[in-house]
Amino acid sequence: MTVARGVWVLGEQRNGRIHPVSYELLAWGRALADDLHVYLECVMVGTGITAAAKSLIAHGADRVRCLEHSELLTFRVDPYARIVESLVREHQPEILLAAATTMGRTLMPVLAAHLHTGLTADCTGLSIDPNERLLLQTRPAIGGNVLATIKTPEHRPQMATVHPKARRPLAADPSRVGEIVVETIDESLLGSRVLRLGFEEDLTMASSLQDAELIVAGGRGLRTAKRFSDLFEIAAHLGGVVGASRCAVDLGWASHAHQVGLSGKSVSPTTYIALGISGSPNHLAGMSSAERVIAINSDADAPIFQVADVGLVADLADLLPRWLDRLRARKRRDGQGGLGG
Ligand SMILES: Cc1cc2nc3c(=O)[nH]c(=O)nc-3n(C[C@H](O)[C@H](O)[C@H](O)COP(=O)(O)OP(=O)(O)OC[C@H]3O[C@@H](n4cnc5c(N)ncnc54)[C@H](O)[C@@H]3O)c2cc1C
Repeated sequence: MTVARGVWVLGEQRNGRIHPVSYELLAWGRALADDLHVYLECVMVGTGITAAAKSLIAHGADRVRCLEHSELLTFRVDPYARIVESLVREHQPEILLAAATTMGRTLMPVLAAHLHTGLTADCTGLSIDPNERLLLQTRPAIGGNVLATIKTPEHRPQMATVHPKARRPLAADPSRVGEIVVETIDESLLGSRVLRLGFEEDLTMASSLQDAELIVAGGRGLRTAKRFSDLFEIAAHLGGVVGASRCAVDLGWASHAHQVGLSGKSVSPTTYIALGISGSPNHLAGMSSAERVIAINSDADAPIFQVADVGLVADLADLLPRWLDRLRARKRRDGQGGLGG
């Protein structure tokens, strides 16, 4: 049997520009490659990427493999899968990571099936078992009540997807040295049964949620739709946007575009204010890379307090109207919000 070697991440490009999620993947991959003492490689499929490949090295890659062709500008699963599969078969990486984006979620299951190996989707944690050198793939399971750690002991590569924004990229180090390999593409792999008719950008607020520096998020603990709707005014005072737990979305208080978590958006704001959110693993999966978490909950034992930098045990039915009054008063007085004291 060939010995599998190296950690690979599957970078992404949009219209020939490297997508930021590629740098996040490199941060995940770098930690694993360092633990295994192996190379970290980034595979880029698309067009116009070789010129920008140096930035991938600056962000942690030891080698970048560029697969360029005008036919590969936009993602179509059949040629992408054939091309990556043939590269994986040739070089036998031991680990292959991708982002849980539309591309990663579509491509990775197809690749895993073709390569007869396992895939753990939507991991919230990845590490290396020091004894067996196996990839430990952690993700919420059984309704989010447990964190399951999954291994792929018998098949290679060990494959996993991770949520975008679940980890911050490493700081760029332009002095890092690496190799850029321009791969030759076998034209017979380019055919596709998919005809691309066009592209419509998602203009919902989902993207502003992912780019926001401050998120005011509400959960079932707000108790009423009216109280949840107050979050929009609070967020406006603070210059932030509104996030929601899945329970709040299921109750009809917010649209799915606001949902943060495993089956919603992953966010990485400077400040995340969690109001009446218990902090289930499925919710934490979407906001664990926030720089600062402020939690308000009436239950001192709520799990959200375990990840909070600042925690307040309080009844939101009582606190929210008073907070809003202070924000309004401050705005009348100073013309600006602040956190309202
Ligand atoms: C496959 C799957 C995917 C999922 N994906 C997601 C996801 O993407 N995002 C997500 O959020 N969830 C997701 N969930 C659901 C998740 O497991 C939890 O059920 C959900 O996050 C709980 O939402 P919550 O914190 O608003 O409600 P609860 O867990 O009910 O928590 C409410 C909190 O409010 C507090 N509270 C109550 N009254 C007050 C008050 N008056 N003042 C202050 N605090 C109060 C309570 O102490 C409690 O901690 C998923 C579940 C599954 C099975």
